[in-house]
Amino acid sequence: MPQRDLVLLVFDDTTILQLMQRALHAASYKTAIVSERGALEKIIQETIPALVMLDEGFDRGLGFQIAGELLERFPTMPILIYTAQESIALYRQIFKIGLSGCLSPPLRNDDITGAVELSLQRARNLGDWMRREIKRTTASLEHRATMSESELKRYEYIFANIQDGVVIVDPEGRIQLINKAMETAFDLTEKKLRGQMVSDVFNHPEMHSLIKRAETIPIKYHEINFDDGRIYNAQYTPLGDIGSVITMQDISYLKQLDRMKNEFVHTVSHDLRSPLTSVLGYTELIQRTGNLNEQQVEFLDRIRSSVESITLLVNDLLDLSRLEAGFDTRREAVRFENVLKFALDTMEGQFHLKGIKLQTDIAETLPELRGNPIRLRQLLDNIISNALKYSPKGGTIRISLQAEDSQIILSVADEGSGIPKSEHARIFEKFYRASNVPDAVDGSGLGLAIVKSIVEAHQGRIWVESVVDKGSTFFVVLPAYKSNKGPH
Ligand code: ADP
Repeated sequence: MPQRDLVLLVFDDTTILQLMQRALHAASYKTAIVSERGALEKIIQETIPALVMLDEGFDRGLGFQIAGELLERFPTMPILIYTAQESIALYRQIFKIGLSGCLSPPLRNDDITGAVELSLQRARNLGDWMRREIKRTTASLEHRATMSESELKRYEYIFANIQDGVVIVDPEGRIQLINKAMETAFDLTEKKLRGQMVSDVFNHPEMHSLIKRAETIPIKYHEINFDDGRIYNAQYTPLGDIGSVITMQDISYLKQLDRMKNEFVHTVSHDLRSPLTSVLGYTELIQRTGNLNEQQVEFLDRIRSSVESITLLVNDLLDLSRLEAGFDTRREAVRFENVLKFALDTMEGQFHLKGIKLQTDIAETLPELRGNPIRLRQLLDNIISNALKYSPKGGTIRISLQAEDSQIILSVADEGSGIPKSEHARIFEKFYRASNVPDAVDGSGLGLAIVKSIVEAHQGRIWVESVVDKGSTFFVVLPAYKSNKGPH
């Protein structure tokens, strides 16, 4: 019979020990013996037994305590306890500690080897199960690791090759990831960038101001101009705990197109002005050349009014192109309330004609603005004449002018046709007219585009609140020049 597993016998009673040894040897088990506590540790380390058989009375009755300590260190080791007398308390103790079983007299060889065999078999089953589980878990972890590695490579490849510039920054402002497009845009390809402070790496002043401004407000549109003519649009997006991301698109070609279009509009409008002036001049002269019949006079009137409205359109286009090109640089201290009062005086007749009541609420003392009075008057004329134009006869227009936190707030409210909500932002675009404008109401859709450009040139904001068939309120907020208010 081949030699079987090694059983460690921990007994200080030699009679029982010999009995055990005989039975085990007869069944071809190897044995090792510990008969005093001090030797236990050493023999366990040296022999690495497959099973431990322990006398309850070992070392003056400390058998259970020793078994418990052994199991703490070797949780899968099968341990059988030998006891002179079985009792319920003893079984409880066995379950509590987690021993494999117990043996007690009368002891026959079969009882001993049977108990050993059973415990070893259970230990083997447990070992097999654990090995299978470990293998299964390791395989699934390996699978996941290879998957995420290949996915990571894919994402890295995509990130590196995105056409827009991207840089991801941690909450301390250090670069975590940067792609090729961003490196090329700033000519950073030679440097090691990861881990460096974003403010040190990008020494472009407009990039600096983007990072600085972004600390207070999220930025959607910020132009970065390079000396060689390239223009990028950059955005800064906070990413919570991760940090933030700066993205950039090359918009040079769009800017070029925009410039070409503006130049074209400017040239055409400019060139149209002189022929229009002469058409208008000749319509005046014709009337002086002799008597005209009634029909001729009527036709001439029609020509004059058409030429006048084309002239208005051409002037609006010229204005807009000048404003957009940033040529409107005249700035002086302006009392906006006075400009408003003049505008209202001039329009008194139009209010009267449409039977519209005017209610004004102009603060007694308002700070001055720094701006161009002609442009500010143009702004007021456009907004107020729209309120008149889009109001039915009767009704009221309410105009308020107040100061708050070193800002001047103008609101013009009418009870007119209103604007559908989805079009509120679009009405400030060039040539845009809301879908509910009746055909009979004239207009080019340029007025509010001019107003918006004027507001922006004065570092202000404009928006509308409106409900269809109820009315619209236009708000304009402009920064005050001096915050200390004084009487006029
Ligand atoms: P328009 O020459 O058509 O009046 P604007 O640029 O001044 O052009 O205005 C753009 C569009 O905004 C108008 O066509 C109209 O649809 C809408 N709008 C502007 N002001 C008002 C208002 N007070 N009430 C209703 N709709 C308005």
